Amino acid sequence: MAISLTLPTIQNWSCHNCGGCCRQHAIEVTEEERQRILSQGWTANDGTPTGDALIERHAGPPWAKRYRLAHQADGACVFLNEQGLCRIHAKFGEAAKPLACRIYPYAFHPAGKQVTVSLRFSCPSVVANRGHSMKQNADEIKQLTRAVVPEGHERTPPPVLSKRQRVDWPDLLRVIDAIDATLAPANMPIGIKLQQTLFWLNLVEQSRFDKLSGTRLTEFLDIIRQAATEEIPLAQTAECPTPLTRMQFRLLTAQYARKDTAADLSAGWRGRWKLFRAATTFARGVGNAVPLQPIFREVPFDALDQPFGFPAESEELWTRYFRVKVQGLHFCGPAYYDVPLVEGFQNLALIFPATLWIARWLAASQNRTRLTHEDVSQALTISDHHHGYSPIFGSFGFRRRVSTLAQMGEIPNLIRWYAT
Ligand code: SF4
Repeated sequence: MAISLTLPTIQNWSCHNCGGCCRQHAIEVTEEERQRILSQGWTANDGTPTGDALIERHAGPPWAKRYRLAHQADGACVFLNEQGLCRIHAKFGEAAKPLACRIYPYAFHPAGKQVTVSLRFSCPSVVANRGHSMKQNADEIKQLTRAVVPEGHERTPPPVLSKRQRVDWPDLLRVIDAIDATLAPANMPIGIKLQQTLFWLNLVEQSRFDKLSGTRLTEFLDIIRQAATEEIPLAQTAECPTPLTRMQFRLLTAQYARKDTAADLSAGWRGRWKLFRAATTFARGVGNAVPLQPIFREVPFDALDQPFGFPAESEELWTRYFRVKVQGLHFCGPAYYDVPLVEGFQNLALIFPATLWIARWLAASQNRTRLTHEDVSQALTISDHHHGYSPIFGSFGFRRRVSTLAQMGEIPNLIRWYAT
């Protein structure tokens, strides 16, 4: 099967064997992968459990059981060794690993006749742009594409554009290109570019597209993009968000700041109680923020609403992040809980203030009051871990929270406030 790929050529990546992905993710395996791993003959001499203890059932009825790799006491995969390397890879080669491990940190999405490739910024090497160019990785990516993209992918319908409108693939990709063009200028602050995109996507949401297609749609997009550059001031001041906005934003950000390892998910009522207590304190927003993972310390909520600055070197990271997600269609449609493009971008834009809030929490946990680029980078590995992969983000409650903030017109102000 020949597949035409769109690669995120602005991004570099190679695996640096940090083992982080093997500590964070629960790896679901197919029945065929389960049988293959069980037949590999693992013994205590390999440093692993044996037999059925390698793989645990985690969901599904008796007639369609779902399995995942078992984990060690600290949440790491049973196959991760003391040096942070995969025992399956070391003993049987890369191709013997479960497909989920081989794909990470890539993500593949149908885009009409093409397939787009995006990356997950939960990987520190992706965030740091470390490694080979995507062109150098192209052969490996093509092999993975053949393994994950089903026959007939070109018949996948495009994501809905907005709640009321659907367009065909060529027109949807025109809108994607326009978003990417708005985000591209390297000399423009990312906060301004996000506000410009939100501004003109709001006009897209209010427009009718039944007679607007092809080059006429491109002309329309050019006009509203120009309007956005005139309407969004370059010199910006931020107003402190209202108490209602801050409560909605804290609850949204708490979801991004969580880390649900396999060990957390197995913690039973204690794990659920911990999350319930955290949700209560985040809703009230008084006193201290309860640490949602061990890297955070208790710090007063008020301290996190003081200006922490914005590191200039983080501009490149943010522009690359949003362009990779947009070019890779990694924010709407099948890649993101089937939400419409406009809603998906509103949600994507909210990752910016949410991540900066998490970065402030990391800095404050070390008694600092200014952000560093390292805080921002680490915070992005935390927030993007969930993007498109934690079911809660596609739930009615979470989507309603995003649409409430969008309807109140508060997303641009949150972007300004937390970039200060
Ligand atoms: S099987 Fe190997 S690559 Fe996959 S999570 Fe386990 S240690 Fe990591």
